Amino acid sequence: MIPPAAQCRTALICGITGQDGCYLAAHLLGLGYRVVGTSRNAATEQLTGLRRLGIDQRVVIEPVSLAEAEPLAALIDRERPEAIYHLAGQSSVAVSFDQPAATFESIATSTLLLLEAVRTAAVPPRLFVAGSSEIFGTSQSAPVTCSARLDPQNPYALAKTTAFRIVQQYRRKHGLFACTGVLFNHESPLRPERFVTQKIVAGACEIAAGRQQELHLGDLSMQRDWGWAPEYVVAMQQMVTRDTPEDFILATGRPHRLEEFVAAAFTAVGLEWRNHVVRDERFVRPHDGSHPLASVAETSEGLGWTATVQLPELVRRMVAARQSDDASFSRAA
Ligand code: NDP
Repeated sequence: MIPPAAQCRTALICGITGQDGCYLAAHLLGLGYRVVGTSRNAATEQLTGLRRLGIDQRVVIEPVSLAEAEPLAALIDRERPEAIYHLAGQSSVAVSFDQPAATFESIATSTLLLLEAVRTAAVPPRLFVAGSSEIFGTSQSAPVTCSARLDPQNPYALAKTTAFRIVQQYRRKHGLFACTGVLFNHESPLRPERFVTQKIVAGACEIAAGRQQELHLGDLSMQRDWGWAPEYVVAMQQMVTRDTPEDFILATGRPHRLEEFVAAAFTAVGLEWRNHVVRDERFVRPHDGSHPLASVAETSEGLGWTATVQLPELVRRMVAARQSDDASFSRAA
């Protein structure tokens, strides 16, 4: 199932077990790459997403942590990847308040170690790093581009800001092919339920199936720019195959209120959301605040990439995937 390294180009995905890692692996396999991925713990339960996409047997999993330089350098030396995609790290803003040091290490320090490994490699691979819209903070009045003022407001954002700047510095000082995709929110059926979008999809489906009565949520007025994850990994691959390395915003450019997401999920299961959703102060998070508006013109012109799946379709797809999972679970029971 897995071709020998000598027969095809290799891509290395750090964080292959996450939402984006799974979709990127599927995309790269489709392009003919041999895909190697790192995971801190290659236990079978970690591979759920890859299994759902039917590709867990088609990728090589290396139990390598990004916290140590030597195993990372040895892996790059052994595999000689054409490109490395750094998607690993603690990815929740809420968790970052409780785990600031682990968040910083997993995002910023790991990026530095990867850049050093690339800089000192016999054949330096190209490097894509997953950035975040959180680097812009909540105070931007104009739509943000990659040169907008950075104003990180939480430990996750601080770590992403540091990584963003280190990548730029290595590109300038060492001439590496390294770039950051500044990612706005993107969702899929692989999103874990600790994220509010999947919590909403799961809640709407459970209520429609009669297994749950109410869905408790925090501030429905908060806005985000939600895109479809499988499209975003295509942009990542495009970024590392350009002639020159450049940072790009990856977003739809169309923010929506959480209430719109909720309404779309309940409509998809044939219910009126107002009859089932309860505002619960326990889920109101002070740091959710307002979110910057993405300027996507530079991305469509410079990268030739535009997000095409808009919110209602995105929610319909997540609900359909959940209902189909429920159906196959009932058939197996
Ligand atoms: P996930 O959380 O789904 O996956 C990230 C992977 O990183 C996990 O599978 C895990 O792999 C590894 N990881 C998790 N915690 C740690 C930790 N403390 N230390 C080291 N490794 C860890 O993220 P996504 O796929 O959703 O996102 C990919 C990247 O894009 C992340 O860097 C995220 O911050 C960024 N991003 C994502 C957005 C989104 O909407 N999805 C928006 C903006 C940025 P394992 O356990 O196998 O080691």
